[in-house]
Amino acid sequence: ASTAKFFVGGNWKCNGTHASVEKLVADLNAGDVPADIDIVVAPPFIYIDYVRANIKGAYAVAAQNCWMKPDGAFTGEISAEMMDDAGVPWVITGHSERRLLLGESNRTVGLKTGHALEAGLSVIACVGETLEQRNGGNLYHTLDLQLQALFENVQDWGKVVIAYEPVWAIGTGVVASPEQAQEVHAYVRKVLGDRLGKATSEGIRIIYGGSVTDANCAELATQDDIDGFLVGGASLKAPAFINICNARG
Ligand code: PEP
Repeated sequence: ASTAKFFVGGNWKCNGTHASVEKLVADLNAGDVPADIDIVVAPPFIYIDYVRANIKGAYAVAAQNCWMKPDGAFTGEISAEMMDDAGVPWVITGHSERRLLLGESNRTVGLKTGHALEAGLSVIACVGETLEQRNGGNLYHTLDLQLQALFENVQDWGKVVIAYEPVWAIGTGVVASPEQAQEVHAYVRKVLGDRLGKATSEGIRIIYGGSVTDANCAELATQDDIDGFLVGGASLKAPAFINICNARG
């Protein structure tokens, strides 16, 4: 188990209009969430500044992606330095949608993660296997390669949260069972412990993502190595997201 605070992230993905974002922020502001956990919401880039300026202090904001150089001729990209300059403290790296739909390799994810940390951001770094990889007996090999790319680029693990997100569970309604998730989280903790030492590994949050709802979060949250959640679909509904923030009661 981690000794660090429970963590809940909301990944809004490519969803929202100015009106719906305004309503979601107002509804999140009206909800009661525990003061002793970390909560981070990741709106689309274009709405981040509005959310940052209008959401209450219980929630921090994150970007869903960043570039791996400070500036230059990289049309369409937004750098970690710009996020830091704009008051965005967190970024998600390595989300499976970016890995699979946009071709981000383990190396790219590692470089982005290392660069974001150097720029002063905290990072939610995502790992996870496809169904094909799991069924082919490659679950742990896949995770090893994804984690290795992080080990090669991360100096300071104090600002890293690892999100285990099995691709087969993302947006599918098929949630990993608490035992399935715990088994993988325990493995990730062991790999972290072997590389970084037990004390450091216990300070790192390993959060679960993949079809988390307010109906299944409580049981997942009882598992020893599940230190929180990364929530996609249910993070767009304030009542559900608030309930998930209260998963530990
Ligand atoms: C995600 O996109 O990180 C995610 C976990 O999505 P969902 O909760 O919709 O499965």
